[in-house]
Amino acid sequence: MHSSARIFPRPNLPPAQSLRADTYNMYCLMPTDERPTTNDASPDELWMEEALRCAQRALEIGEVPVGAVVVRSGQIVGRGWNRNITDSDSTAHAEIVALRQAGATVGNHRLSDCDLFVTIEPCAMCSGAMVHARIKRLVYGSDDPKAGAVHSMMQVVNHPQLNHKIEVRCGVSAGRSAELLQTFFKNRR
Ligand code: ZN
Repeated sequence: MHSSARIFPRPNLPPAQSLRADTYNMYCLMPTDERPTTNDASPDELWMEEALRCAQRALEIGEVPVGAVVVRSGQIVGRGWNRNITDSDSTAHAEIVALRQAGATVGNHRLSDCDLFVTIEPCAMCSGAMVHARIKRLVYGSDDPKAGAVHSMMQVVNHPQLNHKIEVRCGVSAGRSAELLQTFFKNRR
């Protein structure tokens, strides 16, 4: 079980708008403020705030606004947002991008001491990647009835026949992630 007493400090990062593509990696390696936050929001909500910021960046480049961060020992080690169109890459979902960066940062494809925060319920591909990466804990925002592979459309995460178990918390800042997606699809019509 995940210890609820664990304290995640608020990431001390510049606002997303000030990040340029070439400084993207650098910020992931920046030390975060280790002091416990005095903000009323729970640590999960604070990390989700970063994931939402990533989702906003996807929106800005015309991608489906989904964002993800990988957190290890109170620090962001990977960040991602959808880049399917930008990279002509069907696998470039926010979670995959964040997992790749986390693996490179940590120097290990196994991320068993890492938590992944994503704005929407992960699809089958991303859920599978999280199992391969041995992610410890998954926190996500809104459910995805059409493609969610935690429980909505199918179950990949914590499938009974898989050995690796991931602690899951859902519904964190769900309204805001759903709102971003609704804005995106409304503007496309
Ligand atoms: Zn996915």
